[in-house]
Amino acid sequence: MTVRPLGLALAAVVALTPVAVSAQWRPTGRLASVLVVDDCNETGGDVMVSRLDPPTVYVCPTVVRLVRKHHPGAEHFFFVHEFGHIALQTSDEASADCWAARELASVRNGRRVLDAAIALFRARADDESRGYGSARERAERIRRCAEEAAP
Ligand SMILES: [Zn+2]
Repeated sequence: MTVRPLGLALAAVVALTPVAVSAQWRPTGRLASVLVVDDCNETGGDVMVSRLDPPTVYVCPTVVRLVRKHHPGAEHFFFVHEFGHIALQTSDEASADCWAARELASVRNGRRVLDAAIALFRARADDESRGYGSARERAERIRRCAEEAAP
């Protein structure tokens, strides 16, 4: 995703603070072998990006810290979102969002992450970003997909 410096930053909390996120979502099965690399050059200002071949999630710790500062927990949503691209083998942002929302709805502490992400997008409600629609629409999509997974 394309993110302004303080924008819709994503995060790789798992890679940064493995102990703190032990009760959080973590990749399993074939997703467990996906590489997670800290590299702000690769993310180009985004909090995170993913590549399908080879399956890799790139994380910018600087942006992760920014997200965490303002919306603690939201950074983890971005991490799961990137795995959504890889799990579904798609560049479609709405699909990756919905996948992440469903995954998080099913794990302990996932609700807190979802609430933080929804709050982040609602705070930027009128921001538009190619592929995502407005941040308001994104917040609503995440809420709806999580609710469908765990009413
Ligand atoms: Zn994405």
